[in-house]
Amino acid sequence: MSYTILTGDRATGSLHLGHYVGSLRQRVELQQQHQQTVLVADLQGLTDNGNNPQKISTNVLNLVADYLAVGIDPQKTTICLQSALPALAELTMYYLNLVSVARLERNPTVKSEIIEKDFSRSLPAGFLVYPVSQAADITAFGATHVPVGEDQLPMLEQTNEIVRRFNRIVGQQVLTECQPLLSNVSRLPGLDGQGKMSKSRGNTITLGADADQVHKAVMSMFTDPGHLNVSDPGQVEGNMVFTYLDAFCDDRVLVADLKEHYRRGGLGDMKIKRLLEDCLQSLLEPIRTRRAYYLADKGELLRILQQGTRCADQVSRQTLGRVKAALGLDFF
Ligand code: ATP
Ligand code: MG
Repeated sequence: MSYTILTGDRATGSLHLGHYVGSLRQRVELQQQHQQTVLVADLQGLTDNGNNPQKISTNVLNLVADYLAVGIDPQKTTICLQSALPALAELTMYYLNLVSVARLERNPTVKSEIIEKDFSRSLPAGFLVYPVSQAADITAFGATHVPVGEDQLPMLEQTNEIVRRFNRIVGQQVLTECQPLLSNVSRLPGLDGQGKMSKSRGNTITLGADADQVHKAVMSMFTDPGHLNVSDPGQVEGNMVFTYLDAFCDDRVLVADLKEHYRRGGLGDMKIKRLLEDCLQSLLEPIRTRRAYYLADKGELLRILQQGTRCADQVSRQTLGRVKAALGLDFF
């Protein structure tokens, strides 16, 4: 069966290991068999960076370089820019009438982000409604499947509510419901061990991190605070190094053996950290090299983005046309 896939990332910084295991790795697989569109979400990035547009504009091409570096192939995947697709903004305006403020305020991801960003008295209206603009992104491409991290599940629920409501009102199946494609690591914790790894928390290992940054990040990772001597039995649950080994070490048998040994006692933190560092260095080294190669030719990155955006513009305008027609607003 062939899926129609839409996914994307906010242009708020370089992509990191959380993106890699949560979504990017799947996208590279999915593009082989399915119709995939990847959106550089610059408008969504602005919803909590309204005072700092430069942060967003300077990250747009970085994101494209990140995509190419991990193996997203512009011949197979449409890479496009949200702000250059006016149909998305128009769809958002129609959908906003189908959602109550109370419903938006109940969205658990938005709720925790509002607290995290300390927006209590200065919440930008655009931020509160970003799940609606995400519904526009997803439905504009008729997406059936969306490869995302766990934090995005409420957005997909919100999207499907809008789809059902719209289709019911117009009495036709105009919009398509979507479902998430969660990876086996749908929420990689950040280096601070406090929450998910995310660009805005500064708790990341980025895809472009150099070998020294990777080394320092791994060496400063939390293990089990009760594991003071090598001979002590240690705890694996909640131990960041094991969480990351589960996510990044392909040798499952070795990790299972190490866990067993650590629990028993006699395995030092340095040993597991060295293994993790090896895994991360060998994952990131080729990505870093390719990223630098692509970033050296901004003109080419721009050309790829422009070409993908042209295709996406056509598809999204067609959906907008169908939405307007269903509403009886296709006068011209
Ligand atoms: P920001 O802090 O600006 O929101 P972010 O790091 O959360 O940035 P997004 O651009 O919001 O990244 O997320 C893009 C995609 O990557 C989403 O599908 C999201 O679920 C996924 N993702 C982000 N962080 C993680 C993570 N730590 N683990 C798994 N998936 C993640
Ligand atoms: Mg995010």
